[in-house]
Order: sequence, then structure tokens, then C-alpha cells
Amino acid sequence: APLEVGQLVAEVVDHFRAAFERPFSVDVPRERVWVRGDRDRLEQVLVNLLENAHKYSPPGEPIAVKVERLVGESRIHVQDHGIGIPGADQSQVFQRFYRARNVSHRNFGGLGLGLFISHSIARLHGGALTLASAEGHGSTFTVSLPRMPPHEVKRLPRRVLLLDEDAAQEALA
Ligand code: ATP
Ligand code: MG
Repeated sequence: APLEVGQLVAEVVDHFRAAFERPFSVDVPRERVWVRGDRDRLEQVLVNLLENAHKYSPPGEPIAVKVERLVGESRIHVQDHGIGIPGADQSQVFQRFYRARNVSHRNFGGLGLGLFISHSIARLHGGALTLASAEGHGSTFTVSLPRMPPHEVKRLPRRVLLLDEDAAQEALA
């Protein structure tokens, strides 16, 4: 179903703000960013990335989420200033049950499934999940999704395009 990325991101980050004492910033473009996708699954991707950013960062370190609206593509960046991922592990963290060598089970709970699932979901949407990270400095995970072509957005029902966000989500449900 059609889905507005800025709205989804703002909503999920609001939940994290309410749940954790940590600064979360959100940067969303003024224009809407429409994609086609499964709302629950894409929400799960965001939750997984935000949970990781939170889990693998010292208390109080800010987490920055940014939505980019490019030609044909939308990108969501989740940036933290946490423990980072060693270079040798970076190509493997999307594998099932893989955990990097700088996380011990004692200090950080987890199964190594969140990124595997998120990566699969992004690809099933015709998109991608990538990372840039430096051990000891932090990580940025980026979800790329194909944007709905403008002529398809134009054909969305007026009530979806014009109403306030809650009403729009209900109309699309
Ligand atoms: P869970 O299944 O509960 O999500 P997990 O967090 O260990 O467990 P993934 O989310 O799949 O598993 O992440 C895989 C591994 O990638 C982690 O164990 C950790 O080593 C590394 N990792 C993921 N996100 C970050 C991050 N933001 N900062 C540092 N390391 C990370
Ligand atoms: Mg995780």
C-alpha cells in the first residue's frame, strides 16, 4: 500500500523518545515521500535499527534519523555515536545470527537476527540496507526504498493527499 516515509519515521521516533531518556533527532523533508510497502514490516525495520542504535551507544549519546528524498529513491539514515562495527565484521552483520566481535553476550543481549530480518524486508521492497561504521566511533545504517513515481502519487485519492496524517493513514488502511 502507499506509505509516506516522513510520517512513518516521525511516528516511530516519537515512540523511542517516549520510551528512552536519550536525544533522538528527526530530519524529514518538507515534501512528502511516498513509497509502496508493507507498513508493519517497514516499521519493524526502523524499530530494529533504532533498537540497535540505542543498545550499542553509551547513555546520552544522541541518535539522528534523517529521511532523504532523491530522484526515484527515498533513504532513511539512522546514525549513532556508539561502539561501531569492526571493519572485518561489517560485511557479515546481515547474516542470520551473526554478531560482531566487539559485542559480548554479557554486556549486550541479542540473537543476531534484527539486521538479517531488516535486510530481507528492505530487499523484498526492491530496496537495500547498507551500513557505514567505524569501530569506536559509531554507525550509520541506511534503508533505501524505491519512491512511487509522481504520476502514481498524483492518482492517490485526494483525501489521502490532503487530510491530516492520521486520517490519511486510516483512509489507506
Ligand atoms: P537482535 O536479534 O536482538 O537484534 P542483535 O542486535 O545482536 O540481536 P542484529 O540487530 O542483527 O542483532 O545486529 C547484528 C550485529 O551487528 C550485532 O550483534 C552487533 O554486533 C552489530 N550491530 C548492529 N547494529 C549496530 C550498531 N548500531 N552499532 C554497533 N554494532 C551494531
Ligand atoms: Mg538488533
